[in-house]
Amino acid sequence: MIRRSDFSLRTFSVASSVWYVSVVVGWSLMILAGYEVATASVSRFGPALAMTAVLLLVLELLPLVQGRGHDPQGVVMSTAFVCAMLLIWGVWPAIVMVAIAAIAADLRVGKQWWKVLFNAGQYTVSVASGYLVMLLVGVTPSLEHPLGTFRLGDLSWVCVVWVVYFAVNLGLVAGVLSSGGSFRSALVDDFANYTAMTFAVLALSPLVVVMAQHAWAFLPLLLIPLVLLYNTAQMSLSREHEATHDALTGLSNRTALQFALLDAFNSYARDGKPFGLFVIDLDDFKRVNDSLGHQIGDHLLVRVAERLRMSVRPTDHVARLGGDEFAVIVLDAHESEVRAIAGRIRESLVEPIELRGLMLDVELSIGIAICPDHGTDGDTLLRHADVAMYVAKESRAGIETYSAECDRNSIDQLGLLGELRQALDDHALELHYQPKQSTRDCSTLGVEALVRWRHPQRGFVPPDEFIPLAERSGIMPLLTERVVTLALDQMARWRELGMTVPVAVNVSPTDLVGHRLTDLIASGLRHRGLPAELLQLEITERIVAGDAEETNAVLSRLRALGVSISLDDFGTGYSSLVRLQSLPVDELKIDRIFVSAMARSPEAAGIVRAVIDLAHVLGLPAIAEGVETEEEWQLLYSLGCDGVQGWHVAKPMPHDQATEWVRARGVAAHPYPRREAVASASEQRAM
Ligand code: C2E
Ligand code: CA
Ligand code: CA
Repeated sequence: MIRRSDFSLRTFSVASSVWYVSVVVGWSLMILAGYEVATASVSRFGPALAMTAVLLLVLELLPLVQGRGHDPQGVVMSTAFVCAMLLIWGVWPAIVMVAIAAIAADLRVGKQWWKVLFNAGQYTVSVASGYLVMLLVGVTPSLEHPLGTFRLGDLSWVCVVWVVYFAVNLGLVAGVLSSGGSFRSALVDDFANYTAMTFAVLALSPLVVVMAQHAWAFLPLLLIPLVLLYNTAQMSLSREHEATHDALTGLSNRTALQFALLDAFNSYARDGKPFGLFVIDLDDFKRVNDSLGHQIGDHLLVRVAERLRMSVRPTDHVARLGGDEFAVIVLDAHESEVRAIAGRIRESLVEPIELRGLMLDVELSIGIAICPDHGTDGDTLLRHADVAMYVAKESRAGIETYSAECDRNSIDQLGLLGELRQALDDHALELHYQPKQSTRDCSTLGVEALVRWRHPQRGFVPPDEFIPLAERSGIMPLLTERVVTLALDQMARWRELGMTVPVAVNVSPTDLVGHRLTDLIASGLRHRGLPAELLQLEITERIVAGDAEETNAVLSRLRALGVSISLDDFGTGYSSLVRLQSLPVDELKIDRIFVSAMARSPEAAGIVRAVIDLAHVLGLPAIAEGVETEEEWQLLYSLGCDGVQGWHVAKPMPHDQATEWVRARGVAAHPYPRREAVASASEQRAM
């Protein structure tokens, strides 16, 4: 009846002493019982004894689990027959049968050897203790002299036998479990239920006695109430399981985690053992769900749960908090060990997960809080691990241990997110425009719209600070909608002024799933009577690493409208040349990292030259961004770069300044040439 393996047989403790006493006394009695039964004359074994023994073994195969905290073997139905044997034929056959049954049941479920030894031993001792009561009242049946007629008055000492049997059984198990911290609380919680079940089973034993004495052939009828009792208990058990487990992954749920945390805190209070709590969140899970469907999302969660379980120790407690959020309690470990386990969890996901032929790369962020440093109650510890997870995600560090600093960061970020929502409502976002200039004749190829947030207190909040936040929080579609609307409005205003100014709008990877963006742009252009050719979308090269099919489909739909696509930040995203060739884009933008390094480093200049040549081979114009000096401008010109953008040409400007700037310089005749030749070649390949 033991479930914990956290006590050592080599050191002295209450638990180990109880174990040794139970095993030594129990097994000695067993050997003695075996001898007594084996040497008894065969004529003593009548059909009643045989039937009782058979039913006992049958029932042993229906173990009954009782609630949280107890032996997975729980109350055993066969106890009714063990007790009946004790009452009719005395202690030896009862011990032989209880030992055989206990060993068989334990081996069947593959228990560890020391649990098998203990269980058989403690059941034997419990039965023998019951027999002591019979000795005291002078009732000493045996195989030779079975119990005579069973009378009403016998009930009083029989009850005492039950109580003693139950008390010894419970006491021995409690003794061994005293090392596992949760036992006491679990026992108190379930005591009433457990006791009631045990006595319900024991109460059947006089019936077994009477039937065995007078009508042994009727004995199997007793299986009916016992099996019914078994089913009822199973049902309540599976209901309890449902209430504490997550149906999808089979892991504990939030409720069960809270119980486990309580146990961990109790064990900390008693033995001072520190422990860690992880809150784990998958990165980009929403994208998987949205783009590949909930079914794949569910499968992914199941696989992640498996890997989580495999990368922690058997004593650690893994739970699913809901959605793509998990938690792990790492028991009895200091910070360095806790962090090592967090590292193992992340490593376990280095290998992509294969689902229906798709290889999915999963990354997760882990927030760590440690008892007692970061909290000594469940709510605080969970909240702090949550905050740390949030910071791990924001900083892309992957793993973060809670600190007061974390709190500040996350409060800042949460505050910012709230204000960003407000800013969207209040129309506090505006666009600045930065020209792209042709190196051929210095005419304007177009302008790039860059979002600006005028914050009432913080002043100007740069997009790098709130775009990633918006992408992660799911308000990105609203933000993009606002930016696209503002850009189209400005384009329409320029048209009214007789200027045809192509505008490039930045879109996030999260915008490139589904039809939303395409629909928004199509209707926006239509309402304002704008030609689609005037609009360009800049997508970062990093998107190319994502789901090729979905991205290609969205980009192709946009291009079919007439919108052109620019591949932004080129050189930082490791896109393969194969992928690049099939990607429906019309322009490459060389990342400013290379441009700014170009003048100092021949390697960087070499990369820029190679990218320009690559663009031309693919039939695309190359635009260099971040051009800050005349020297860079000239170098790019000499390398054959088609366009430049940067402070040397112009900084991003509010719309009125941008209007003046463009008016003074004019717009190129064919600002955004389409990549027709290459596109049709790749479309042919795709067919
Ligand atoms: P990006 O698309 O690479 O935009 C270019 C950034 O470089 C802009 O920063 C621009 O102000 C800055 N820049 C321009 N010329 C120079 C130069 O000569 N030297 C240097 N050092 N920097 C220069 P900004 O406006 O802060 O935007 C940062 C990033 O935020 C953008 O990078 C873009 O990825 C994102 N972003 C901006 N607006 C939007 C938007 O409306 N939607 C989305 N999804 N992302 C946006
Ligand atoms: Ca851009
Ligand atoms: Ca860029």
